[in-house]
Amino acid sequence: MLDHPPSTRASAARTPAAGGEPRRMPRWSTDDVAALFELPFSDLLFRAQQVHRAHHAPNAVQLSTLLSIKTGGCPEDCGYCPQAARHHTGVASGPVLDVGAVLDAARAAKGAGATRFCMGAAWRGPKDRDLEPVLDMVRGVKALGLETCCTLGMLRDGQAESLAAAGLDYYNHNLDTSPEFYGEIVTTRGQDDRLDTLARVREAGIRVCCGGIVGMGESRRARAALIAQLASLDPPPESVPINHLVQVEGTPLHAKLHGESAIDPLEFVRTIAVARVTMPASTVRLSAGRRELGEAVQALCFLAGANSVFYGDRLLTTGNPDVGADRALFAKLGIAPA
Ligand code: SF4
Repeated sequence: MLDHPPSTRASAARTPAAGGEPRRMPRWSTDDVAALFELPFSDLLFRAQQVHRAHHAPNAVQLSTLLSIKTGGCPEDCGYCPQAARHHTGVASGPVLDVGAVLDAARAAKGAGATRFCMGAAWRGPKDRDLEPVLDMVRGVKALGLETCCTLGMLRDGQAESLAAAGLDYYNHNLDTSPEFYGEIVTTRGQDDRLDTLARVREAGIRVCCGGIVGMGESRRARAALIAQLASLDPPPESVPINHLVQVEGTPLHAKLHGESAIDPLEFVRTIAVARVTMPASTVRLSAGRRELGEAVQALCFLAGANSVFYGDRLLTTGNPDVGADRALFAKLGIAPA
């Protein structure tokens, strides 16, 4: 059993520890993470609970609501995505929403209990003229007293700084999957492009939301490599969404996997636990695919260290448990919104 993170980063993390010494962050190799995956299930969950309780309130969940502010017609080819223009999924391409409509949705999300409002646009990356209304949305949502998050694709010079100046708290940009498996899922942008955007976000002082998707036909080794890559970002993402693939008819992954789940539910729970152990201070979010998991598996995910969910009956274009079902589940588990 791995009792300690196996090595430390060669370079010091940015935050000095008490006493002025630079804090050294643990670095996880794929082998280290793969060893965690191999632990007996109960041992892994016990370990994850220990880490979770050392860093977070044990029975609290952070609630984020996600709104698609510009849907469909995306030029990218992400194999899981119903919004790619080249996939015939029936998702219509629409214009950018009005700022007023976005703020109405944000008010409703706040009223339902969300503390963070995430705005997603189906772009390869925003043009500068696209960014203007988004900046107004960020300012407006922030003024409502909500944390703000955007996921807009790849960012270019100056864009992260503009978002930071408008008050953006988090930028979401996922690595999706392991470097080795990535080319089977996306070909129109590389992981290096994603790392470049993540670096721009960090440089602008915006917190990073970065995770991936499991159940795409990847191996356990690929899941370990994804988690190792996330945990070795310096510093690790503050927010780590772990998505369970929702197979949408018309996407290449639906054609490949025929709508059959490609990951055992307990393997999904293991993935959450491994993310918790390797990224102790991060918020680990149960993201897409939660409705398909059912209550029992979600309960195991909370036990494994998940402490955030997407909240509201829709994600970008796919379904999510409704607010009433979530409240009932939290009450059964004695979990309170943070
Ligand atoms: S995941 Fe994002 S970038 Fe990829 S096709 Fe969908 S909307 Fe476009």
